[in-house]
Amino acid sequence: MPPRPLSILPAPILRQTAKPVAAVDDAVRALMADMLDTMRVEKGLGLAAPQVGQSLRVIVMECGEDDDAPRGVWQMANPEIIHASDDLASMEEGCLSIPGYRGEVVRPAEVSVRYLDADGAVQVMQAHGLLAACVQHEIDHLNGRLFIDYLSRIKREMITRKFSKLAKDART
Ligand code: ZN
Repeated sequence: MPPRPLSILPAPILRQTAKPVAAVDDAVRALMADMLDTMRVEKGLGLAAPQVGQSLRVIVMECGEDDDAPRGVWQMANPEIIHASDDLASMEEGCLSIPGYRGEVVRPAEVSVRYLDADGAVQVMQAHGLLAACVQHEIDHLNGRLFIDYLSRIKREMITRKFSKLAKDART
């Protein structure tokens, strides 16, 4: 069992704007550690706090610049994209909150992200490739945005209907 249960579409928290962290304290560090554990159990590359039921601006990632590159581990509070390249890149994305579906998403190919690390220190990350897509996907979660929002309306509505029906069936 992962330490924290995942929020699955159409959980309302996935569409809310998450609140900034006031300070990186022990509670935030415990959340980051639990999120890393949950992400690893679920075999994800990244996870955002709303996906574990916390509407806070916290994300974690274990990801490289491509599938074969060495993976780094990031724990970020209040991440903010301070620069995005004009160059775009297309990447197939999935999401632990939307299991079983993937889709091509076009995003800036390179980004710089300012954030607070697990010690509360300000850091800047430069990312390209898979890592850039991953960090943008996770920051989107903090703004209530999901990768399906980048797909065609038909595909998005098909996936949304499917998950709404699953949630309804689970209640009855
Ligand atoms: Zn996601």
